[in-house]
Amino acid sequence: MLELRPNCQMCDKDLLPDAADARICSYECTYCANCVETVLHNVCPTCGGGFVPRPIRPRQAWRPDMKLGLANNPPGTQRRSPRFTPDDIAAHVARIRHLPPDQR
Ligand SMILES: [Zn+2]
Ligand SMILES: [Zn+2]
Repeated sequence: MLELRPNCQMCDKDLLPDAADARICSYECTYCANCVETVLHNVCPTCGGGFVPRPIRPRQAWRPDMKLGLANNPPGTQRRSPRFTPDDIAAHVARIRHLPPDQR
């Protein structure tokens, strides 16, 4: 199950489960769309992969027997902070951004 992380790991913006601007990489590293577009240029600082919009988990358990939805699977609460310095991220992004995600 996808961990719905509560914040952008770059600018610390809150990203609620229904945030339309949450972006994730394949490892669930989570950023806001603004950081992905203007700072990361679609390069994950950790794995180097691209980002996609994070799916919005439904509030309701539409199939009650399956125990789904936010009431049964609440968002994560552990806030993450950047693991790398801005200079390190800039160098990493510069090395990778010219490659489309399917060629990295
Ligand atoms: Zn951000
Ligand atoms: Zn990643």
